[in-house]
Amino acid sequence: MSEEIKIGLETHLQLLTDSKLFCGCPTTGEDNPNSRVCPTCLGMPGARPRLNKRAVEMGIKVALALGCETPEEMNFSRKTYFYPDMPKNFQITQFSVPVGKNGEVTMELDGKEKTVRIKRVHIEEDPGKTKHVGGAVTSSDYVLVDYNRSGIPLCEIVTEPDLKSPEEARAFLRKLADIFEYLEVYDSSDEGTIRSDANVSTGGERAEVKNITGFKDTEKALRYEIRRQENLKKRGREVERETRAYDDSSGTTKSLRTKEEEADYGYIFEPDLTKIEIRSDWKERLGEEIPELPHEKKKRYVKEHGLSKEMAAAICSDFDLAKCFEALAKEKDTKLVGNILSGPVKKVLNYNEIRFKESELNREKLRKVVEMVESDEITERNAEMIIRDIAVEDKDPEKVKEEKGFGKVTGDKLEGTVEEVVKANKEAVKDYKQGKDEALNHLVGQIMKKSGGNADPQDARKLLMERIEE
Ligand code: ZN
Ligand code: MN
Repeated sequence: MSEEIKIGLETHLQLLTDSKLFCGCPTTGEDNPNSRVCPTCLGMPGARPRLNKRAVEMGIKVALALGCETPEEMNFSRKTYFYPDMPKNFQITQFSVPVGKNGEVTMELDGKEKTVRIKRVHIEEDPGKTKHVGGAVTSSDYVLVDYNRSGIPLCEIVTEPDLKSPEEARAFLRKLADIFEYLEVYDSSDEGTIRSDANVSTGGERAEVKNITGFKDTEKALRYEIRRQENLKKRGREVERETRAYDDSSGTTKSLRTKEEEADYGYIFEPDLTKIEIRSDWKERLGEEIPELPHEKKKRYVKEHGLSKEMAAAICSDFDLAKCFEALAKEKDTKLVGNILSGPVKKVLNYNEIRFKESELNREKLRKVVEMVESDEITERNAEMIIRDIAVEDKDPEKVKEEKGFGKVTGDKLEGTVEEVVKANKEAVKDYKQGKDEALNHLVGQIMKKSGGNADPQDARKLLMERIEE
C-alpha cells in the first residue's frame, strides 16, 4: 500500500440515553416501525425540540475524556438537506461551536503506540432509517422509512486525516468504543450502532465513503476504496472528489454524487433552542465522574499487578472483563487470574465475537475455575476447555469438569505415567541423553496423551527430567 494514504473518520456512536435527544420518546422498546415517534421526532410543523440534558452531559464527558477543549457556551444548528429519512428536511446538529475541539486518542497496534488527533466532537440527532426493498440503494423498487431512530442522540467524532491504513482505522474505532464503554455512555455489544463516514486519499483528491457500519466493515470498505483509487492511478486516471456509498453485500463502494461543500447545507442556528452555558462547576462535576480510562487502567495493571502489557491490554479492552479481573485479583492469585482472563476467557470471547457481559461467564463461575486450578484439581488446559463450555451456555464449571472427566493427574499417578512413557520410548530417552532436546518434547507429549490432557506439562517435564537423569 502506498505511503501517501490518509484516512480521516467521522464516526457516530449512539449515546445511551432512555429518551431521544429532543423529545420524550423512548430510545429502545417497541420495535414495530414508527411506533416510538411523536410530532417532534416526526418533524411536524409547529413541534419544538426540548434538549435532553443527559445527552449533553454524556457529550461533555466524551469531549473531556478525549482531551478536547470545551466551550463556555454552545449551541445547535440546522443542517439542511432533503432525504426521506429526515422528515423536517434538516438535522439538528452542532456546527460552529461543538461540545469538543482539538483532542486526541492514543491507541496501540502491533505493540506500537499511535496518536490520532480529534478535530471535533459534536452532538446531533439521528435521522430515520430507510429500507430499500428489492435492491440496493441505487436499484431498489421502493423505499420504506422507519422514524423510530429519528431523534436518537448521537455523538460524532471527527478525526484529522491521521490514519494510515484500514487496520489502523479499525483499531481506532475499537479504542473509541472502549472509551465510550468505560464512560458508560454507549452499549458496545451492538456494533450496528457505530457508523462511520471515511475520507480517503491516496495522494490525489479524496473520496468520501458513506455509511459504513461496525469495525470489520470499516476495514473492508477502506481496503476496497484504497485499491480502487490505486487502480485508477495505475491506468493514468485521476481520483475524483466525490461521495461514495459502501455496499456491504458486495464489499464495494459506488459513486453517489460529487461531494457537496459545507455551504450546500445552509447551516443556520437552531432558533427553537437556547444557547447552552457550560458552567465550570458543571464541567468539573462531570470531569470527576470520568472513571479510570482503558490506557490508564492498563498501565496500572502492569505496575500494580505485575501483568505483562499484552495481558493488561487484553483485559482492559473489555470494561466488564476488567471489572471481573479487579474483583478476583483481590481474592485470588493475581497472576493466575490474569492468565486465565487474558488467555482462555479473552480467546473464547473473541472467537464468539461477544463482549464479556454478553457471555454466560460471570465472577462466580470464574472464581470457581480459578479455585480448581489453584487447588490442583484441574490443569490450566482443563480450565480452558471448561471456559469454552461455560462461556456460551449457562453451566456450572464443576459439573462440566465431572462430565468431561477432567482432573489433574499428580503425585504417584503422574509418576506412574512418566515411568510407563520412559519404558515405552527408549529411543527417545536415548536421543535426549545425547543432547536432542526435541526428544523431551516428544516424551512430554506422550505423557499428556496418556493422561488424557489432565497432566500439567510443566510438572510432567520436571518429573521426566528427574527420572531420566537418575
Ligand atoms: Zn418523539
Ligand atoms: Mn453526522
